[in-house]
Amino acid sequence: MSITIRDLRSKLNAVFPEKTAESWDNPGLLLGRGNACVSRVLTALELTPDVMSEAIDFKADLILTHHPFIFKPLKSLTDDTPEGRMLLELAENHIGLMAAHTNLDCAPDAIIRKLAQDLKLAGCRPFVPHRPYKAYKIVVFVPCESADAVAAAMHAAGAGCVGSYSDVSFRAQGTGKFTCGADSSPAIGVPGSSEAVEEYRLEMVVSERDLRAVTQALRNAHPYEEPAIDVFELHSEVHHMTDLYGFGVSGTLPKAVTLASFIRHIKKLWDIPSVRFAGEPDKQIRRVAILNGSGAKFLPSSDRDVDAYITGDCGHHDFDNAVRRGVALIDAGHYDTEKFIPALLAELVSSFGVEVMVSHTMRNPMRVM
Ligand SMILES: [Zn+2]
Repeated sequence: MSITIRDLRSKLNAVFPEKTAESWDNPGLLLGRGNACVSRVLTALELTPDVMSEAIDFKADLILTHHPFIFKPLKSLTDDTPEGRMLLELAENHIGLMAAHTNLDCAPDAIIRKLAQDLKLAGCRPFVPHRPYKAYKIVVFVPCESADAVAAAMHAAGAGCVGSYSDVSFRAQGTGKFTCGADSSPAIGVPGSSEAVEEYRLEMVVSERDLRAVTQALRNAHPYEEPAIDVFELHSEVHHMTDLYGFGVSGTLPKAVTLASFIRHIKKLWDIPSVRFAGEPDKQIRRVAILNGSGAKFLPSSDRDVDAYITGDCGHHDFDNAVRRGVALIDAGHYDTEKFIPALLAELVSSFGVEVMVSHTMRNPMRVM
C-alpha cells in the first residue's frame, strides 16, 4: 500500500503536531514533493551517509528522522558540501526527507512514555510542561437526562482537565426555551411549537488542541438538532490547565535505591557503555526526571522535587550546578536517550499501512574508550 507524502505528514501531525515544536526547530517535510507516493519508509535518528545508502538499497521513498537534517537556512544546494551532496543524491533517487523532532519529544505518547515505562515510574508528569495552546471554556445547554452522556463524551475527547484532576465540569439547572422552526426536526416538540425544557448549563475547560474534537463529540452525543454551544477564550492565566504535552517526564521509582545502583540499572536497561554523573554514590534516589537529548538547561527547575535527573549533553557547569542544588545529575548521553525513537516512529508509520524499516547503521557518533 502507498500513501502520499502529504497524507503521511498529516497522519504524523495528528500524533506529533508540528505546531508544538520549539520555535527554533525545523520539523516536517524537508525534501520531497507532497503528492509523491510513499510505500517504503526508513526511520533513523538522523541522516548519515550510511543511512542514505540503506535507504537506496531498501528502495525507500522517504527517510523519516528525529533530528532535522536541514536546520539552518541553506544558502546553496550544490555538491560543494557534504550536506549538499547528500541532499542532491536523495533527490536524484526520489527519496524524500522528513523529521519529527521537538514535536515528538514533547508528545505524551512517544519517547517520554517509553523512558518512563522502562524506569517503572509512577505518578508521571511532564518535567517541563509545554503549553502552546490557548485555553477555552465551552458551555452547552443540555436536557437534564442527557447531561451525563454529553459530559462523558466531552471528557473522552479531552475537555475538563484541570491540574491533576480530570473529568472536571460544572452544571447548573434552569429552563431552556425555544420555538421549533417549520423546517426543523426537533428531538423535543414538533415544528412550529414553543417549548420549555429543564436543562443543565454544562461547562468545562478545554485546550485549543482538543476544542474541535470536543465540539464534535458534544454534537454527536447531544440529542438536539441544534445544540446551543458557547465557546469563550480564557484570558486569565490558566496555569493549572493540564496539557499532557511537555519535555521529559518526572515520576517516582517503585522503591528508593542508591545513586550507584540506579546508574548500574540504567546502564544495563538501555545498554549504555558509560555515563557521567554528579552526586554521592550512596545518595538515595526515589523521585526521578528524565529528558531525552540535551536537557541540562532545564536543571534549575528540577531542584524542588527530584533526587536525580537524567539527560544528555551535560557540561562542566551543569555538573557544578547540580552539585550546588543537591540533585544527582546523570549524563546518559544524547544518543543513548534517543536511540529508541526510530523504532517508535517505525511502529507508528507501519500502522499507516506502508512498509517500514528501522536503520541498522545508526550509531553513536561520539565514542568512548
Ligand atoms: Zn536529539
